[in-house]
Amino acid sequence: MNNETTTNIIDLSRNLQQKETEIELLQQTFTEIGGELDLDKVFQIVSERARKLINADTLLIPLLDDNCATYTYRGGAGANSEEIIGESLPLEFGVCGWVWKHKRPWWQGMLNELSDEEKNRWEKEVGTMILVPLQGKRHFLGGIAGLNKTGGGSFDKKDLNLLQLFASIVSIAIENAMAVKSMEASHKLNEDYRHRLETVNKQLIESSKELEYLSLFDSVTGLPNRTLLYDRLSREISEVERNDSTIGILLINIDSFKDFNDALGHDRGDDLLNKIARRFEKGIRHNETLARLGGDEFIIILPDQDLLQVTHRAEQFISGLKNEFTVSQQNMVVNASTGVAIYPEHGTTISHLLSHADLAMHEAKSSKLDVCVYNPENDHSAKSLLAMIVEVRKSLEKKQFELHYQPKVDAKTGKVVAVEALGRWTSERHGEVPPSIFIRVLEDNSLIDEYTYWAIETALKQAKEWSKTIGVMRVAVNLSPQTLMNPGFKENIDRVIKNNHDGNLLTFEITENLFLSEFDRLADVLEHICALGVELSIDDYGTGYSSLSRLRRLPVSELKIDQSFIREMVDNKDDQAVVHSTIELAHNLGLTVVAEGVERQSVLDLLVELGCDTIQGFLISKPLAIDAFDAFIKSRNR
Ligand code: C2E
Ligand code: MG
Ligand code: MG
Repeated sequence: MNNETTTNIIDLSRNLQQKETEIELLQQTFTEIGGELDLDKVFQIVSERARKLINADTLLIPLLDDNCATYTYRGGAGANSEEIIGESLPLEFGVCGWVWKHKRPWWQGMLNELSDEEKNRWEKEVGTMILVPLQGKRHFLGGIAGLNKTGGGSFDKKDLNLLQLFASIVSIAIENAMAVKSMEASHKLNEDYRHRLETVNKQLIESSKELEYLSLFDSVTGLPNRTLLYDRLSREISEVERNDSTIGILLINIDSFKDFNDALGHDRGDDLLNKIARRFEKGIRHNETLARLGGDEFIIILPDQDLLQVTHRAEQFISGLKNEFTVSQQNMVVNASTGVAIYPEHGTTISHLLSHADLAMHEAKSSKLDVCVYNPENDHSAKSLLAMIVEVRKSLEKKQFELHYQPKVDAKTGKVVAVEALGRWTSERHGEVPPSIFIRVLEDNSLIDEYTYWAIETALKQAKEWSKTIGVMRVAVNLSPQTLMNPGFKENIDRVIKNNHDGNLLTFEITENLFLSEFDRLADVLEHICALGVELSIDDYGTGYSSLSRLRRLPVSELKIDQSFIREMVDNKDDQAVVHSTIELAHNLGLTVVAEGVERQSVLDLLVELGCDTIQGFLISKPLAIDAFDAFIKSRNR
């Protein structure tokens, strides 16, 4: 064997040995990172192995950033690598930019392929650099770069091939680990959102609890308010109905409270009310309810007590006031007048009982008595109502009632969007009788159902007529709670709304007091109505006794704010606050809001500002008979 041959053999075996080492290195890398999902660890392994593989002083892994405008050195090994890792640079910068653009590796041999101009530009800078692209399965990821061959010289074609092979092996592992990392990040984001959602939900529950409290208790005295009183009273009534007992109702009005308020100022006036409430509270037993109706009026419900016991208790409450009150170091004597009504003797519905207790209270005031019991003899309105029954009955038979129609307009566009049908009756003896009176006569004499079905049929016929002439428009009919809760209602309404589309032309206006009815049955009836296409509107909202949580659970779509809040709202901040919060509340519950009784432009302007949806009132039009209504629509459309 000559010398040359010996050298060749030695070279060959060295080459073979090197190949072995390289293959082993590649294999090792592959096994190590194949199952590794920690991105930093993957970068560390890849950098160290690659540096060994091509004998580079420094090895770096530049990767494209999500913004696609920069790249960042995400991993590295060897000289100065620690200082470079984490650096971000613009995409077009340096040889990386070249590799991104051409999706080809860079090494010294590349220089020969460049134009002279490019060659001049790159030669000095990148003579000792090698950079191969990292191409993932889904995306272009970036590259692996080697800087300065250990012990001098340049990276050659062999280094290039090796590094390319290496890059193709590790790219998928890098891509997977990156995907896991971004999944982890979005998981964390999800967790954060969930956490925030939980907090917001908690806040919502808190504030709805607060709203619920505010809607049931009086803020000055902490006593049950009207709503809760109505709820308790209706429960007591159904309880007492079962065991044939009686309930006493005391309506206590503080005499000349306005004078106290004027003299003391509102805050101290409230203080006095609070002290009065505490004094009454002392005389209340566990099954009795003391409530504040607002202003200077208190109600006490005394279950299972007869007239004698109730009057005695009333006198005790009043004499309890005789001891002086001290407010802001001033002593004062408070007097009150009490009206008494007894269930069932003086009325079987809450509104009758309360209005009779009220009548008795006024009687007490005018006769300067502490306590007065309701006496129908003194109830002049009851007497004249009695005289009306016969005539009302006759008019109903002869269909002598009429409907007038009042437009509801869109607050922003002024377009007529719906109408309300209002009953009208002219009595031969009394002339025009307002619905507030004749409806009560109908209700008290079980004639209201018959009247209501007539009203619904008449309004529906009219709405169909209009859908041919003016356009489709819902007509609202007012429903008495009595009719709605009548066991035959569902069947009757199915009879009236025969045609599938007819329901879409109707709205029923119901009052808040309905919400005191047995909830499941009410919900069942209301859902039945809605299934027919009829919309439900809460009339006179704010004067009654609805509980927020109940309202939310019923299929209601409109809320009509009572005119008593609308009338003075421009000048009265309290009314304005009620209107404002009602609009917000209604919108939060997904309801549209109608303002009733709008008579002035300034009120309309303010309502528009507050976001009210629909306007009804004399400013637009009074309720009109058919001909006048048609003429109104014609001139308005023009
Ligand atoms: P409601 O349903 O709240 O109807 C609105 C009342 O306010 C109507 O009084 C209407 O004429 C009046 N109104 C409308 N805009 C204004 C305004 O800008 N200023 C003033 N001052 N008043 C305005 P109406 O027709 O006397 O009816 C009174 C109530 O009688 C109705 O109140 C409703 O509760 C009841 N009612 C009327 N028709 C029927 C009916 O067919 N069935 C039943 N169950 N109740 C009816
Ligand atoms: Mg109405
Ligand atoms: Mg109303």
